[in-house]
Amino acid sequence: MKENSLVTDDLVARDLAHVWHPCTQMKDHEQFPIIPIARGQGVWLEDFDGNKYIDAISSWWVNIFGHANQTIGAAIAKQTQQLEHVLLAGFSHQPIIHLSEQLVEITPEPLQKCFYADNGSSAVEVSLKMSFHYWKNIGKPKKKKFVTLQNSYHGETLGALSVGDVALYKDTYKSLLLDVITVPGADSYNMEPGEQTEDYVLRMFTYMEETLSEHHEEISAVIVEPLVQCAGSMRMYDAKYLTLLRAACDKYNVHLIADEIAVGFGRTGTMFACEPANISPDFMCLSKGLTGGYLPLSVVLTTNQIYDAFYDDYETMRGFLHSHSYTGNPLACAAALATLSIFHNRDTIQRNKNLIQRIKENGQRFENHPNIGQVRQTGMIFAVEMVEDKAAKTPHPWQQRRGLKAYKHALSKHILLRPLGNVLYFMPPYIIEPEQIDLVLEVMEEAVNVAVAN
Ligand code: PMP
Repeated sequence: MKENSLVTDDLVARDLAHVWHPCTQMKDHEQFPIIPIARGQGVWLEDFDGNKYIDAISSWWVNIFGHANQTIGAAIAKQTQQLEHVLLAGFSHQPIIHLSEQLVEITPEPLQKCFYADNGSSAVEVSLKMSFHYWKNIGKPKKKKFVTLQNSYHGETLGALSVGDVALYKDTYKSLLLDVITVPGADSYNMEPGEQTEDYVLRMFTYMEETLSEHHEEISAVIVEPLVQCAGSMRMYDAKYLTLLRAACDKYNVHLIADEIAVGFGRTGTMFACEPANISPDFMCLSKGLTGGYLPLSVVLTTNQIYDAFYDDYETMRGFLHSHSYTGNPLACAAALATLSIFHNRDTIQRNKNLIQRIKENGQRFENHPNIGQVRQTGMIFAVEMVEDKAAKTPHPWQQRRGLKAYKHALSKHILLRPLGNVLYFMPPYIIEPEQIDLVLEVMEEAVNVAVAN
């Protein structure tokens, strides 16, 4: 044990000497140390001292079938012997062809073409550029504005950040960003007491309807995270909003971009979050779970109609000349194919129904908690929002960092949670056992109690 602790101390010191960690005020690590992880297995992560942690947030929502998954690992290993990489301009390979066929098969029917990138933000950039470029190609260059919902999140690169609305990430860079139109959504947290969901959604949709009606001639696309605004504190809204939005985008000749980077691949209970609304977007962005959390890969699916507007003689300069070096990397595609095979073979969506139910039953323990303003769940995403006053939903001042207290407590109980401000959420790998769900929710309740105590 002692020896191992020395290993940890050494790694921590060397890490802090040279590694600048994402989404982190590095000075925080003077207070609590970074945790080097030695290995992972299933839902478990293990550090160099032999401490194990349940990865209750799927390592930022990517690891959907657990760590050290045999099927995905073996598929990547096999692919390394065949072809590790080839540029995708002018060349192709079997994994990307198979993967594109399968993605087209499992997404809504109008989506027929796949454009690849290597992370979520880049996929969002692709969808924004493609939308604008489509309108330009068909002679409508004035359509260049993007509409986004309040509290949305679409990534950190400048275009993606522009269409996001989380102040914590955006405000500092505002002067660098695109001018977008931000509209209130139908966040269930803001519903009036006693109001029916349908009435609320209709009421909130009027903001979008008005915006589109007034500005559609200059609007290129509306971008949304279907059903759950994940980085925006796991705020949730009803599928009816998406149905209305699709109809309005059609009416006003505006593209709909569905950013399913976090919610795709079974996270909300169906394979894709657009399904309960029975809609097909003009662009669907996918990443994260696509490779089971093994390798970075993202894709934008779109329609033949959009593709055709770029298809012309080279000299017309209508082509989409966007690229990333690792576009369509064969190893990442092999990981994605293995991930899809697990969905298929194990009937994951069906099996998750029991887990979803288990989370629901267990999560009821928070309903009457005096410091929980809302308990919310959409499929395999569960969240509780800590508040100072339940009736008024008064938030705890952010400076008190109550989420951090919850994080530390959960870690001491071997559960990895990473709260978003005052919101604790549970977004586990789909291979989690029912008893592990019970354990995580029990610790989550303890963590809330610790965090709200003065
Ligand atoms: N869109 C959504 C909805 C996301 O949740 C994220 C990542 N959290 C992104 C885009 C950006 O993806 P990446 O971090 O891979 O750039």
